[in-house]
Amino acid sequence: MKLTFLGTGGAWGVPELNCQCFICQEMRKLGEKRDRSALLFSGSKNLLIDCGPDIRNQLMRNNIDRIDGILITHEHGDHFIGLDDILAYKRNAPRDNFSPIPLFVTHKSWDMIGKRFSYLEDMGLIEVKKIKAGEEFVFHEFDILPFKTYHGEFAKGSVGFIISFNGQNKKRIRLVYTSDFLDIPDFHQELLEPEYLIIQSFWLNEPEINRANHMSFQRAMDFIEKFSPKGETFLIHIGDADMVPNDPANINAKKYKPKSPLKTPNRKEPYPIPLNHIQWQETIDRIVNDYRLGFKITVSKDDMIINL
Ligand SMILES: [Zn+2]
Ligand SMILES: [Zn+2]
Repeated sequence: MKLTFLGTGGAWGVPELNCQCFICQEMRKLGEKRDRSALLFSGSKNLLIDCGPDIRNQLMRNNIDRIDGILITHEHGDHFIGLDDILAYKRNAPRDNFSPIPLFVTHKSWDMIGKRFSYLEDMGLIEVKKIKAGEEFVFHEFDILPFKTYHGEFAKGSVGFIISFNGQNKKRIRLVYTSDFLDIPDFHQELLEPEYLIIQSFWLNEPEINRANHMSFQRAMDFIEKFSPKGETFLIHIGDADMVPNDPANINAKKYKPKSPLKTPNRKEPYPIPLNHIQWQETIDRIVNDYRLGFKITVSKDDMIINL
C-alpha cells in the first residue's frame, strides 16, 4: 500500500497569502510550502481522504489517473471545497463509461457540503454514502471505521478514520487518521495501539485560547501516548499561528499566545518555534528524546510517499 501525503498544511496553507510572519518569510526563502491537508491511499484502488482547494495541483503533480473513493473528515472548506475539480475524472473518461465515485461522509457533514455540491451527485460524479461514527464499512481492500472527533460547534459531523488493510507481506495494518480535532469523546478500544498514527499538529504550543478547536503538538503528546502506536506517527495540518519571539506579525489576529509553552525538562527553556521543515523535525526529535516519549514521530511534508 502506498500513502501519498498530498498536502500537510493548515486551513490556509503555508506560507499563507499576505502573511509576512517569520515562518512564512523563512518558508518563502527556502521555497517550502504546505498545501491543504489531503492523503491518498493507493492499493488496488485509489482512496482519497479530503479534497480541499489545492486538490487539482496535488493530484496533477502526482499523476493520479483515477480516484475510486473519497472519505471526508468534516465540513470545513479546506477539506471539501475542491470536490468540483474531481469532475475532470468524469470529463476525461470515455463517454458513458464512468461510475460515480463513492463519497463517504457523515450525515451532519453532508448537510453542509450538500448545500454547495449536491449537483455533483445529480451529474453522476459522486455517489454519496452516509457513514456514522462507530459503524464500520468495507471499501474494496479497506475496512474503515469512522470515530467521532470533537472539532467545535461548526464542524458537528467531524470524524477520524481507523483504516485497516493488508500491507507488505500480507500483514494486517491498522492506521488511525485524525484530521482537525480538539478531543475524542469516545476513546474506544479500536483506537489503541494502531500500527500507524496520523495526527494534526497545527501549532507547536497549545494556545491560551483554543478557539479553532485544533490540536497542538504539545497537546498531541498526550494523545500519542494514549493511542500508543506500534509504528510511526506522522504529523499533518501544520500551520503558522504559533508566535515566534520578536516577530512583528505577532500582533496579527491569527497568532496565538501559548498557554504555557513546552519547555525542556531540565533547564525549563521553551523549545524554539520551528520556522521550516527541518527545524520542525529537529524540534520534535528533541522533545521525543527529552521527554522519553518512545515513539517515532515524523513531520510529514507535501508529496512524501510511504510504502506500508
Ligand atoms: Zn505566516
Ligand atoms: Zn476544520
